[in-house]
Amino acid sequence: VQRDWLARPFAPDAQQWAVPTYLYGSTANGQLRVHHGVDIPNPQGTEVLAVAPGTVIFAADDAATLVGPSLDFFGLAVILELDQRYHDQPLYVLYGHLSAFRVRVGDHVDAGQPMGEVGMTGIAMGPHLHLELRFGENSYQSTRNPELWLQMLPGHGTIAGRLVNAEGRTLPGASVLVYRADSPELWRVVPVYSDEAGIQPDDEWGENFVLADVPAGAYRVTARVDGRVVSQPLTVEAGRTTFVTLLSGLDGG
Ligand SMILES: [Zn+2]
Repeated sequence: VQRDWLARPFAPDAQQWAVPTYLYGSTANGQLRVHHGVDIPNPQGTEVLAVAPGTVIFAADDAATLVGPSLDFFGLAVILELDQRYHDQPLYVLYGHLSAFRVRVGDHVDAGQPMGEVGMTGIAMGPHLHLELRFGENSYQSTRNPELWLQMLPGHGTIAGRLVNAEGRTLPGASVLVYRADSPELWRVVPVYSDEAGIQPDDEWGENFVLADVPAGAYRVTARVDGRVVSQPLTVEAGRTTFVTLLSGLDGG
């Protein structure tokens, strides 16, 4: 099934990376509510851009209309219903914690068009964009990982994978450790998705962890499963997603 990449929600001169300690499906080690999107920090007032052509179906303070887990959660929020459908079902993108709007309900926008400005309205610890992808219905419980839809940065690729134990069960709360192939130094810690309602793997990939915007190169991913360390080498190519399966017993332990 064809998937049209989503444009980045920020211009190239703005900060592009999602907060690595609170990726999609993460609870930040149990400190925060499970994350249904990703957070991209930028200074207050930075323009946020439409990720694809679509129609604005919500642009308001969420104090009176429930669009998240509770009222007053996303603050000033915009929801865009994309022109693109996927598996013949609708796709929505929510922009949360804005400080200002540049669009109104009913507007049709093109990719790259300003939607509003970064802020910290609702529940936010600093100015950032909460970017959330919803599939099938416009619901907080119907999200997917938006980083598997965003156009990759030049020279970068994505690691997606599935960590399971010998019984084939996913391991919420576990971490996948990422090393550069030429260095013993731990490079990134990637959380395995929580198994709470509302966190779903991608319909194509079936992953339970994702690390996006990885510089092309050679890496090694490891995790602890059933008391054993499992490890896989992998190569990240620019513009591509590399899928890795980590399971207990695959390498003989
Ligand atoms: Zn968020």
